[in-house]
Amino acid sequence: MTYRSSVPRIVIVGGGFVGTYTALRLQRLLRPGEARVTLVDVDSYMTYQPFLPEAAAGNLEPRHLVVSLRAVLPRCEIVSGRATRVCLGDRRVHVELHEGPPREIPYDYLVFAPGSISRTLPIPGLAECGIGFKTVEEAIHLRNHVLGCLDLAASTIDETVRRRALTFVFVGAGYAGVEALAELEDMARDACRYFDGVRTCDMRWYLVEATGRIMPEVGEDMAEWTLHQLRRRGIDVRLNTRLESAVDHHIVLSDGAEFDADTLVWTAGVKPNPLTASCDLPLDAKGRVRVTPLLTVEGTDYAFSAGDCAAVPDLTNPGATTAPSAQHAVRQARRLAENLVATLRGERLRPYRHSYAGSVASLGRYKGVAQVYGMKLRGFPAWFMHRTYHLSRMPTLNRKARILMDWTLAMFFRREIVSMGALAEPRREFEYAAGAGARQAAPAAGAVRDEREPERAERVRAGRP
Ligand SMILES: Cc1cc2nc3c(=O)[nH]c(=O)nc-3n(C[C@H](O)[C@H](O)[C@H](O)COP(=O)(O)OP(=O)(O)OC[C@H]3O[C@@H](n4cnc5c(N)ncnc54)[C@H](O)[C@@H]3O)c2cc1C
Repeated sequence: MTYRSSVPRIVIVGGGFVGTYTALRLQRLLRPGEARVTLVDVDSYMTYQPFLPEAAAGNLEPRHLVVSLRAVLPRCEIVSGRATRVCLGDRRVHVELHEGPPREIPYDYLVFAPGSISRTLPIPGLAECGIGFKTVEEAIHLRNHVLGCLDLAASTIDETVRRRALTFVFVGAGYAGVEALAELEDMARDACRYFDGVRTCDMRWYLVEATGRIMPEVGEDMAEWTLHQLRRRGIDVRLNTRLESAVDHHIVLSDGAEFDADTLVWTAGVKPNPLTASCDLPLDAKGRVRVTPLLTVEGTDYAFSAGDCAAVPDLTNPGATTAPSAQHAVRQARRLAENLVATLRGERLRPYRHSYAGSVASLGRYKGVAQVYGMKLRGFPAWFMHRTYHLSRMPTLNRKARILMDWTLAMFFRREIVSMGALAEPRREFEYAAGAGARQAAPAAGAVRDEREPERAERVRAGRP
């Protein structure tokens, strides 16, 4: 059954880069009463992912790199829930809300933008011990976890526990992996001074990459330079090496190395969101939605898609598709919104065309690497360019100002080194108190600490320092 109402309804699935920027543009372009826009996202905010490494390193307040969808999209209806199925046939989006009965949302026009998820492999122990680096929750968790590991290393008298706590493994050396590792290592290096007996040389940071080079997003020479910088910092970068097993945090690499590590971060690329497979949209061999250069889903004139979940033809490189990046996502969103409005008005649609400008990456405070429009920058200028470029892309003046303030404060004050991992378990203390009350045994302060000590290492491992 096809839904129709007097005012056409546009449903956007996914409120990330593509979804949010499309909705922002539609808000500006649509005349009153021309169409109503509904945006569905699991979260009620958009995450500016390129700032995740800086948030993990404590240079940015995590709340400042997320944008409230309700605040920036006052003319759109926001539905917080998970889209479970999108049908082209009957033009409906099935949504599971966080509570209560599911909803079926009919649409006249669809924007499909659920992005991507971490591309994992069936490696023993990976699902149990690893963590990705795509969400603000993961970034905050990792920051707390790394600081918790330093805390544990400074407190324990067991050398095995200490060594394991101070071993950090990152798998995948694209820019996301390199940035995440470099920023966290920089933070941990800075933080060591506060942890008794933990020296920077006690920490072991590994970057494991299956191919023969790091950062394919920049040229060979810039990648070489970055590799050299990481190694100079003592980071053990292993090229042409794969993670073979991580059972019980025991890491086994394909080059024969074996050791225990409390921290395993998986940053080995992305794959289209599995939602694409549960829809009747046309897919390519990699599971991405097949779209035309006009960003319409192949075979339709009412469904659009772009970003990490879509195979967008790269008109500047015939035969290729655009890479999954914020740079393309933002520009595609703009073109998509304009084409959607043109469709509504019966006007001509225009193709998406953008030649990749290059990449900027931060490698810790005042360190970076950038290759933009053929210009190569290293160290401070690259780091500065990374910050200014991404700041300019961040939606709303409010967020820009807050981020600028975070950076300014960070110039004058030392980093915060408090691990707030307990935030994930707000009831822990109360449960403990209630349990102790039930036993009617009021333990002395020293006894309390002793009783809880054995759980501590396990909590750190689980990321709950
Ligand atoms: C650590 C990191 C650093 C990066 N740095 C850079 C960089 O420096 N430069 C650059 O160009 N790119 C960078 N990227 C890549 C860039 O962030 C992505 O390419 C971009 O976010 C893709 O946009 P998107 O809209 O397709 O997906 P996303 O921004 O991921 O948005 C997808 C949205 O869909 C929602 N969603 C998912 N499933 C459902 C569902 N079933 N129902 C409802 N909603 C759903 C999600 O909650 C999310 O909000 C980085 C990525 C990461 C992880």
